[in-house]
Amino acid sequence: MRLLIMGPPGAGKGTQAKAVADHFSVPAISTGDIFRANVSGGTPLGIEAKKYMDAGEYVPDEVTNNMVRSRIAESDAEKGFLLDGYPRTLAQVTELDAMVDATGHRIDAVLVLTVDQEAVVERLLKRAEIDGRADDTEDVIRRRLEVYAEETEPLIEVYAARNLVVEVDGMGEIADVQQRIFEALDVVPQS
Ligand code: AMP
Repeated sequence: MRLLIMGPPGAGKGTQAKAVADHFSVPAISTGDIFRANVSGGTPLGIEAKKYMDAGEYVPDEVTNNMVRSRIAESDAEKGFLLDGYPRTLAQVTELDAMVDATGHRIDAVLVLTVDQEAVVERLLKRAEIDGRADDTEDVIRRRLEVYAEETEPLIEVYAARNLVVEVDGMGEIADVQQRIFEALDVVPQS
């Protein structure tokens, strides 16, 4: 199973991605988590990425694409993966297509979590209190939502044109959203 999960910041992608990935026994690969681990570890990649992350901007495509290419080449991703937070730009879609094509596989479905914008800001502010993430201040949250709308939302159309989009209402309790996701994905054939 090769899945993508999309939705604005705060849509609950990370939480749902883990449950879905476990269900299909594939790794959940979160580019945000990989960047954060690199920031914590003080690696050159982390130092580069942090500048963009703290401002709510996207890390440059080339940096992100190279990171994903090496991650999905690892053995645990051979049978499939769920990408959380990638692709986020058209250039990343093109790169991912090439990576997946090269292995003779294809993307099976693109899960899109839909949420109410104001509810999302509230969720993120709450998360900021709990996790203390540097990119969860209100200004940065607004910027991240703007960047999402400009750069990433258009990708839904791209995948819809390929009949890959599975849209799920992301509002409500985590367990309810999870159930909706499983019902929606039940009908997706696995490659
Ligand atoms: P996330 O945890 O998915 O919200 O990602 C946190 C931050 O990491 C984003 O605001 C970006 O700065 C960076 N990031 C994560 N994924 C990508 C990506 N696919 N392209 C560019 N930047 C990314």
